[in-house]
Amino acid sequence: MISIFRAGVKPEQKKEPAVSREIKRFHENTAQSRLIPEIHSIQEVSPQQILEIAGLGEVYDELDGLPLQQKLQQALDRGYKAVVADALDDEPYLSSRLSVFAQLRDEVISGLRLCGKALGLPDSALSVAVYQPMLYFLPKIAEEQEVPLKRYGGKYPVDLPLRQKGEENGILYLGTGALVHLHRAVYEMRRQTTAFVTLAGNCVSNPFNAELPLDMPFQRALEFCGLAENPTYICFGGSMTGEPVLDPEKTFVTPSTRAILAFHSYDRVDAKPCIGCGRCMQVCPQRLPVFYLYQASVHKQLSVLRRMDAIPCLECGACSYVCPSRLNIVPVLMQGYEMVRKRREQVAQMISGDVKAQDLPQDGQEVSAQ
Ligand code: SF4
Ligand code: SF4
Repeated sequence: MISIFRAGVKPEQKKEPAVSREIKRFHENTAQSRLIPEIHSIQEVSPQQILEIAGLGEVYDELDGLPLQQKLQQALDRGYKAVVADALDDEPYLSSRLSVFAQLRDEVISGLRLCGKALGLPDSALSVAVYQPMLYFLPKIAEEQEVPLKRYGGKYPVDLPLRQKGEENGILYLGTGALVHLHRAVYEMRRQTTAFVTLAGNCVSNPFNAELPLDMPFQRALEFCGLAENPTYICFGGSMTGEPVLDPEKTFVTPSTRAILAFHSYDRVDAKPCIGCGRCMQVCPQRLPVFYLYQASVHKQLSVLRRMDAIPCLECGACSYVCPSRLNIVPVLMQGYEMVRKRREQVAQMISGDVKAQDLPQDGQEVSAQ
């Protein structure tokens, strides 16, 4: 675990020790049925063949779970001008993309070059994106990088707005895992049968990154890393933006599984009163006045909430994560947004004559359900 103070915020990454451990493999590393004639160098393969092999190799991009062939074809049709290997992993606990880049760098760069060739781009249009604080772990990457390394810092989650902006500017972001699988499909004739996954969380005794077979049940994967106690909450994806897992026996690894995280005490039973430090506002990627929204939601100050709900909350959880009082801020904000929505409905009913003005709820009053 590292703690880096940036603008008064302490983003505890909790990526150690997984990020610096060797990636463990739980699959047979055997060559598979011959997909294509043997290819030994990038000069021997045409742009069209790269697209076809991405399809034959059933390579998926872990960033969004879409087939790589489809993403490359769309980028080609739209005339994208750059490709970025995305090793950002900006959320706490996650390090699967960064570890792949750190430990399988040659395959990542090879896959990146293949994508560049498929899109007809020169090497100067290729780069790798990493999350700036993570370079503390991996100084060698910065020193020895052959393809330019772009460092990104800032507010959680960094990668969502970055990719949206990239699309607008004709920049294709691809996960490092997908690039490794493309390299293997082209040069080793292997289909994608695995995914790179971070296994971590506060009730995992031995966190690490693993290359897991597709279709492995989450429960089995978690047992490999030693559950210190029964988790009360399991999620896949990121610790902030991930989805809850209801049945880990019946939830399986897919090409877009980036992490399986197991936690205990997800409910913040030890929360303390808000101390007004403002850290929640410093990290909010939407630049929301989180502290004021939180207070207004707690005290049902509809007049305040009404003025502040124009920008939606992403429910990324960054505010809760940095809160020193361990407040679970997001559900409270959602209640506030819901109060405003119901109030708007009631105002509409008042205009249509169904509700009288004096019956509309005022500050501090409950807003009745519709
Ligand atoms: S959960 Fe909402 S309020 Fe909190 S940091 Fe994310 S976007 Fe901002
Ligand atoms: S909600 Fe938490 S982070 Fe935000 S001001 Fe209060 S104590 Fe600070």
